[in-house]
Amino acid sequence: MSENKKAEKITGVKGMPDILPADAHLWELFENTAQSVLQSYGYQNIRTPIVEETRLFARAIGAVTDIVEKEMYSFEDSMNGDQLTLRPEGTAGVVRAVLEHNLVYDGPKRLWYKGQMFRHERPQRGRYRQFHQFGAEAVGFTGPDIDAELILLCRRLWDDLGLPEIRLELNSIGDAEERARHRVDLIKYLEQHEELLDADAKRRLHTNPLRILDTKNPALQEIVNNAPKLLDYLGAESLAHFEGVKKILDRNAVQYTVNTRLVRGIDYYNRTVFEWVTDELGAQGTVCAGGRYDPLIEQFGGKPTPAVGFAMGIERLIELMKSAGETAAPNQCDVYLVHQGEEAQIQAMILGERIRDAGLDVILHCATAAGAGSFKSQMKKADASGASFAIILGEDEVANETASVKALRGAEGEQQQASVPFTEVVDYVVDQIIGGHDCGDDCDEHHHHH
Ligand code: ATP
Ligand code: MG
Repeated sequence: MSENKKAEKITGVKGMPDILPADAHLWELFENTAQSVLQSYGYQNIRTPIVEETRLFARAIGAVTDIVEKEMYSFEDSMNGDQLTLRPEGTAGVVRAVLEHNLVYDGPKRLWYKGQMFRHERPQRGRYRQFHQFGAEAVGFTGPDIDAELILLCRRLWDDLGLPEIRLELNSIGDAEERARHRVDLIKYLEQHEELLDADAKRRLHTNPLRILDTKNPALQEIVNNAPKLLDYLGAESLAHFEGVKKILDRNAVQYTVNTRLVRGIDYYNRTVFEWVTDELGAQGTVCAGGRYDPLIEQFGGKPTPAVGFAMGIERLIELMKSAGETAAPNQCDVYLVHQGEEAQIQAMILGERIRDAGLDVILHCATAAGAGSFKSQMKKADASGASFAIILGEDEVANETASVKALRGAEGEQQQASVPFTEVVDYVVDQIIGGHDCGDDCDEHHHHH
């Protein structure tokens, strides 16, 4: 190979976007807010591996689902022949771990998780091949109260994030027996209109007809709207559970619509299903989906244990936060250290450590290929960093053991500059930044100082 030949560029995998520093603030804000809301309801974090045995997902999610039929990243471990899959969702792994470690031996558990999921879908807005979910699973609780709790928890999160335009759709899909009776009538009905069904619906007609109700094809809307409704097939127990959920939501002033066509793409759900939906994201408007999955744990060989959970798509929520006006963090640091000369550089680094000890964020100017940079160019960088103060150390400052501290955020022309002895510099900037800022209870500036 010729030495001059330019190295071929390697790009990221299609549908697996990088999350860049410009968005880091939004991701942290989402994750911190979600985590503290989950904590406020007593949920504990669980972290399971990204890779599981393929048969875990095949069994948990069900063979005739979008995910297992065509979306899984499955592979053979060439070292030992294990059949493995990158997790397409979080519930299967959490349930496996709950059973493997017998987490419910001393009673029910409230759990939450977050992380990457992988599905081989057609990439488009709001739909990626690597994406992130934030989810909760409440394992071992039977009543409608926990279903409602999960919904209240979501509402609190939307409120805390300042996202008003998310509406709740609710349904009950009963139990397996009730669905089986409905299924007979549904297939009969759909067969009567078979010539009007699209290829997808025809394919599902005898495998997973319930999913046809979920179709996004506008041409099928009338047919599915007039189809037999699962709600009409529910027995007394399922109905009472559903009424119980609705009553708690009503008493807590949660708005919702009952959408009788709402079903879940995953086989293990029963009774309560819900989705939080927005119109602001185009076709990919569901930001959170959840429901009860009482049969799953027994299906895994555990003793019958009811469970309910939800998963939210973080990418879609980040996009909503952006459209609601949430912006990137304006400041990278509190203090930017500008220096000229060898001794000034060392003094600046010592000072930087002391200011960080006091809890402030400090960026120290460092040399690049273009050199150390003039005072002027360093001050430009200080300005662009969003720092409140530049601390300047040159030959004179070093000789006098005094730093020049310049306020960067005041109005033009009013930006004060003070000479402060080295020994007092830390107290001076801490005072100016924390003392000068009237920190109310709901202040979200400089969290790290508290
Ligand atoms: P859809 O019908 O849109 O394919 P789904 O039923 O496959 O959704 P779930 O498995 O319930 O979705 O996942 C829960 C949430 O995770 C979704 O509501 C969505 O917000 C998010 N999500 C699912 N798949 C993707 C993806 N490929 N890219 C980004 N977010 C996703
Ligand atoms: Mg899907």
